[in-house]
This record gives sequence, C-alpha cells and structure tokens, in this order.
Amino acid sequence: MTVYANPNTEGSLVNFKSRYEHYIGGQWVAPVKGQYFENITPITGKGFCEVGRGTAEDIEAALDAAEAAAGPWGKTSPAERAVILNKIADRMEENLEMLAVAETWDNGKAVRETINADMPLAIDHFRYFAGAIRAQEGGLSQIDEHTTAYHFHEPLGVVGQIIPWNFPILMAVWKLAPALAAGNAIVLKPAEQTPVSILVLMELIGDLLPAGVLNVVNGFGVEAGKPLASNKRIRKIAFTGETTTGRLIMQYASENLIPVTLELGGKSPNIFFEDVADKDDAFYDKAKEGFTMFALNQGEVCTCPSRALIQESIYDSFMPEVIKRTEAIKLGNPLDTDTMMGAQASNDQLEKILSYLDIGKAEGAKVLTGGGRAELGGDLEGGYYVQPTIFEGHNKMRIFQEEIFGPVVSVAKFSGYDDAIEIANDTLYGLGSGVWSRNGNTAYRAGRDIQAGRVWVNQYHAYPAHSAFGGYKSSGIGRENHLMMLDHYQQTKNLLVSY
Ligand code: NAD
Repeated sequence: MTVYANPNTEGSLVNFKSRYEHYIGGQWVAPVKGQYFENITPITGKGFCEVGRGTAEDIEAALDAAEAAAGPWGKTSPAERAVILNKIADRMEENLEMLAVAETWDNGKAVRETINADMPLAIDHFRYFAGAIRAQEGGLSQIDEHTTAYHFHEPLGVVGQIIPWNFPILMAVWKLAPALAAGNAIVLKPAEQTPVSILVLMELIGDLLPAGVLNVVNGFGVEAGKPLASNKRIRKIAFTGETTTGRLIMQYASENLIPVTLELGGKSPNIFFEDVADKDDAFYDKAKEGFTMFALNQGEVCTCPSRALIQESIYDSFMPEVIKRTEAIKLGNPLDTDTMMGAQASNDQLEKILSYLDIGKAEGAKVLTGGGRAELGGDLEGGYYVQPTIFEGHNKMRIFQEEIFGPVVSVAKFSGYDDAIEIANDTLYGLGSGVWSRNGNTAYRAGRDIQAGRVWVNQYHAYPAHSAFGGYKSSGIGRENHLMMLDHYQQTKNLLVSY
C-alpha cells in the first residue's frame, strides 16, 4: 500500500502552480479579459489553484497560432510526426506517477486507476497512432488504358476538440493522438471541472511539438466551448460530453458544414445469462466482478454498466453475492493505492447523483445496498463521496432510462434470451454493453443483437487503442480509436492522371 502525499506538500510528486493560463503558440498566455476561475479538488472540496477563464477572444488567439502552425506541420512526413508522438509517449511514461497523482487530485478518481489504466492507455494511444500513421498508404488504381487514379491523405488543417471531466488526460489523448498523427493543428478546450492535469501534461510535453500545433484554452462551455465549436476557422469539431450538448455542437457545425465526431452519453446494459452460475468457479467469480464494474471510476464512465439484467432463474442466488462484493468496494482517500473508489468529480455531479437516488426511491425502486452520500471524516470531510448503490426495479423507471453518471446500478430480471435483448435495446442510447455466458453461441448472438457500438463478452471496461469505440443512437456519431480514426482527421485527395 502506498499513500501519495497531497500535491504541494512535502514529498509530493506534484507541485501545482497557484495560477494557470492558456497554452497558446507554445507559450503560457493570460486570458484576454484577465479573468480566472477557482479549481477545486473533489477529494476535499477545497480550491487549490486558479485557471484562466477563456472567452471568444482567447479562442481567436489560439486559432491564429494554430493556423500559422498548421501549414508547416501538415507538410511534415508521417515518419517525423511519429518520432514526436513516440517522444511524447516516452516522456509521459517517465513521469507516469506524477501525471497520475495530478489527475487524481484534479478529478477525484482513485490513483490505482490513474496509474494502472488511464496513463498507460493514454501513452499507448500516442504509440499506436505513431505506428498507424506510418502504416497508412495511399491507393493507386488503373482506371483505363490512359488514366491512373492516385489517392492521397491530407490533414484537415485546424481542428477543435472539446472534452469532459471524467478521464481528462485520456479523453484528451484519444483525440490528440490521431489528429496530431494525421498532421492537424489543434485547439483543445478541457472541461472546466478538471482543466489542470492537461495543463500539467502541456508543461511536460509542450516543447516536443512545434509552437502552435497544440493549443489549450480553458473555460466554460458557452463562454469558451461555443466560440470554438461554432468557429468558421476550424475544419472539424470533435466532442465528448453529454447528448444534449452534442446536439448543440452539431447545430453549430451544420452552419459551417464541417464534420463532427460526437462521443455522448450511455445507459449500458450488462446481461448475465443463467449459465454463468452453472459452476462455482473462476468464471463465475469473474462474472460477479463484472457486475461491480458500475462503480469503476465512481461510475463516471460513459459506458458505465448502469443497467444489470439478470436471468430470473439465478437472480436469488446471484444478487446476494454481488451485493456482498459491492459492499466490499473500498471507498476512501483517492491517493491511497488500496482505495477502489474515490470522489465524484464535482459538487454538481454529487448533487445530480443524490437527486437520482431520491428519484429512484420515489418511483418505487428498492435499494439493495448504498443509497446515499458517503461521509468520510478527517481531511476528506468536504469531499464528494457517494456509496455504491444497487437499485432493484424495472426498465421503464427513470433510473433505468436516464444517465446518472455515478456509482449506481439498476437491476432487473429477465425470463429468456428474447426478453433480455428487448430490455437491453429499450433505451435511447447505444454505447457500451456486456454479455456474460459460458455458451459461445448465446454470447455471439447477443453480441450481434444488442444495438451498441461496443459489446464486451465475458469482460467489461477494456479500451485498447486498436478497437473502434463509439455509439449507436443518441450515444454519438463516428468512432474513436482504431486505424479508422485517421480518416476522421484527413481529407482524401483523388488525383486522376491521364497520359
Ligand atoms: P458536458 O456536455 O456538460 O460538457 C462537455 C464539454 O463540453 C465541457 O468541456 C464543456 O465545457 C463543453 N460545453 C458545454 N456546453 C457547451 C456548448 N454549448 N458549446 C461548446 N462546448 C460546450 O458533459 P460533461 O458533464 O462534462 O461530461 C459527461 C458526459 O460525457 C456524460 O454524458 C458522458 O456519458 C459523456 N461521455 C461520453 C464519452 C464517450 O466516449 N461516448 C466519454 C466520456 C464521457
């Protein structure tokens, strides 16, 4: 067990500045209007630094820098860009613990996750796209005796990227790595709840990129996000966040007729077929562990398995086991490597989750465990902690239909295969899903029948860089990760040559 020291105290790996500005054109630049906002750690609920409050003027300055850098950067070779992306990955790896602690302090999530999952995945994304861009080939085809067609990949130019607060560095890197690999210049706006770990990342890697290739403007959605997403100077907007915000982003983009990538909300089903309980073995153990994945990252995951569907024949034996496991989830100081669940990312998010706990109770759902705020004493007293909660109810309830984005799972029974699929697909969303069965045929069939961009079979919450990720229905448009991402950040030029 290790307990990392709080930032800015003796022995800490992280020393935050008291004030952070925007990162524009390779420099730290004060906001044009001179305004700052307080950044709070959810671990204690106390402010620890202030951050530049961006407006349209700062976005324009960042676009100036990005436009100046886009031409030369777009002309570098894939090999040159790959070298830089690999250097970024190496430097992140050398400073992995520092970044993990910064992320934990900014967001509240358990350091065991930032160290073992978020940072290694982010590093691997840079390495993956460094390789992918070198492997990409243009096409050549003979059209007729006198004509040859050449296909070239060209960067889009300047792109805008807007991210949420639940995996600040990882969500940024999912967008940055393919866009940089493809030769674009970027203006990134982090979430106002968690801007600082990305700024710490910029302090670490900023010198590896030509000035202006990657710019970060902080601030709030309407003040800084909208002037970016609706700007005529960008050639694409990539957004991760709520479905309601995604609709606005698409409206802005339609005015400028630019492509969008939208990674939005979810209400993912996790289906447990009766054969999981055929034997009390390692597989059954894994399935029970799979149920508890709703609490990973405090449930603040777009793919949170927030609806668990259990076949009725095993319901009475399965539920006590998973309740026991849920009650064993260790909630506590996120900087302690033994802690399994940390703080919710903001007070607003805490209140939203608590309001859904009230909604669930009011609509008649039964609380099987949890159901309230977790009061942790000492230094953590003012922090935003929630008990992992299991509700029992039915799929028409609001707690089954609306995204809570907290450590809350709503459980319902199903009778057989068709019933399971019908309930699973009875949602506005279609992002993640889980299927648990010893029977390959059942698992494969369910995997094909569920309307979601990602189906995990006999596992949950894996995000390899080379696996396409994205949503059906109201969960989004487009995909992230995988080679196909390069197409989202490039134009294809077709040159027909006659001779
Ligand atoms: P949000 O939509 O409130 O905010 C996301 C970002 O958009 C923030 O940076 C915010 O400042 C900005 N923003 C808000 N209003 C804007 C506007 N009018 N114009 C431009 N920018 C604006 O979402 P959130 O609460 O930060 O994040 C949680 C949501 O993100 C959840 O719904 C979750 O499911 C989703 N999410 C999806 C994925 C995925 O890959 N599909 C991943 C993580 C999170």
